[in-house]
Amino acid sequence: MKPSLSQFQGCLIGQCLGDALGFPVEGYGPESCSTYVEENIRHPSDKILGRAHYPFGQYTDDSQLARDLIRSYNENDGQFRPEDYARRIATIFEENRIVGRGLATHQAAENLIAGASWEESGIPPPSAGNGSAMRAAPVGMFFFDNPKLLTKCAIDQGRITHTDPRCHAGAVAIAGAVALVLCEDEIIPSNFLTALIDYVRPIDPTLTQGLEKLHIWLDWDYKEAVKVVGPFGRKAGYDESYSWRYISPYVISSVLWSIYAFLKTPESYMEAIITSIIIGGDVDTTAAMTGAISGAFLGIKEIPQEWASLLTDQNSWGYEELMEIATSCYNIKMSENR
Ligand SMILES: [Mg+2]
Repeated sequence: MKPSLSQFQGCLIGQCLGDALGFPVEGYGPESCSTYVEENIRHPSDKILGRAHYPFGQYTDDSQLARDLIRSYNENDGQFRPEDYARRIATIFEENRIVGRGLATHQAAENLIAGASWEESGIPPPSAGNGSAMRAAPVGMFFFDNPKLLTKCAIDQGRITHTDPRCHAGAVAIAGAVALVLCEDEIIPSNFLTALIDYVRPIDPTLTQGLEKLHIWLDWDYKEAVKVVGPFGRKAGYDESYSWRYISPYVISSVLWSIYAFLKTPESYMEAIITSIIIGGDVDTTAAMTGAISGAFLGIKEIPQEWASLLTDQNSWGYEELMEIATSCYNIKMSENR
């Protein structure tokens, strides 16, 4: 039966492990990232790389906030309550537990802490980072069978921190991608992209145009594809000053790249993760988004257990706890119509 429990577990664990695999080289250029892929992912030695004082397995803000989105859904009996989720975002910042924070999300959390409501807290354009897309994958599990509610929830969870329509489109694209793969036995990229464009077209033209071109880029080697995806849809006024090379935290390019990486090898979680990291830039986030989509398609059995078992968030919320909330989410969702 589709979707299966294994797919819900694969979505959350796939997101967290992608994030943890990208974290050691977040913000690094393509040379460092391809060396890291070769020496630490393809041919890992005994000592797996962490970052700063964090051991390998630590996942970052992307997955901390995706995890808390699932907890909010579970603890509200399968309802999405934006005010409850906003409170959780504020709390994780207030308690200084966030790892690798994004600028807009941080400012929005400060607004919440200062008393703003969830409808007032978000940062307006031209801020258009990937902070609301990076945590949107669980929305695909909550509403895989209801595109209208999926769209509303993806946007509402997003506008707590980001209000630019490009950010809304990015969040809907990631949630929509998860919803689509949960229900398919086989991925045919052209069909998948057509269905995904139906989700995104009413919201934002830039991401729509990128998704329309993605089937062409899929025929190219990643080194060629990244040259067009990286700068795609940039407007003056956003991130020109960033020293990020190739895939920056700009929502359009990072969402496009994460979908490209999944569609390159839908049959392999690890190859998809490698494609999401090897190009350099904001790679904890591209790998988190790719990992959620790939894990949701393939299920938990295709995710390397020896690495997934090391997942941690500062000595809490490791593999077992993450599996438990994914399981609860599945049981709540699947009991809806009984
Ligand atoms: Mg991060």
